[in-house]
Amino acid sequence: MRKLVQGIVDFRKGRRPDYAETFARLALRQKPDALYIACSDSRVQANVFASTEPGDLFVVRNPGNLVSPAGPDGKSISDESEAAAIEFALDVLEVRDIIVCGHSGCGAMAALAAGRENVRWPHLRSWLRHGDAAAERLRHGEGDPERTPQDRLSQLNVLLQLEHLRSYEPVRRRAPGLHPWWFEIATAEVHAWDAGLGRFRAIDDDHAAQILQRMKR
Ligand SMILES: [Zn+2]
Repeated sequence: MRKLVQGIVDFRKGRRPDYAETFARLALRQKPDALYIACSDSRVQANVFASTEPGDLFVVRNPGNLVSPAGPDGKSISDESEAAAIEFALDVLEVRDIIVCGHSGCGAMAALAAGRENVRWPHLRSWLRHGDAAAERLRHGEGDPERTPQDRLSQLNVLLQLEHLRSYEPVRRRAPGLHPWWFEIATAEVHAWDAGLGRFRAIDDDHAAQILQRMKR
């Protein structure tokens, strides 16, 4: 905490004046570009790896970047906070894109890969069930063979959570762009799903151009 409190003091003295105009504008309204659903992991920071600024992203973070699926009525079967964020982002803020961002070395995915029944903590054990289908796919040999089982699962999980998102009524109605991202911590490289290759690959200049081209259509 000491570092955080000192950080506030430093921000007040140093960078706050630079942000004066930005926050004066943001005080009137927010118009974020995307809903960003990521793992709670302290290392997955879009403001660093995607150069985001205040006002850019509407954020939901939870262990394992999971989305509890919706039932046939398009409403969440379990977690209301995330469902509320999806409704608010799409219907009030009118964001047109949703990103689900997993990452390498994910503790939630390690727990899931090791068998959810072995998780000691009741809420975590229950919450991770929204990744069960990805663990099942891992057991059936799916995923990038060049990755560790934990990271393979993490990538399969990102794709699964997009399926869960599609089960929500506002997502079906608004049809936002859905973006599977995966952050590799050791290289600080953001990967996106390449449907043509059937695997995640780094968003370099070429891949970024392809992604942007697809979004124009
Ligand atoms: Zn994680």
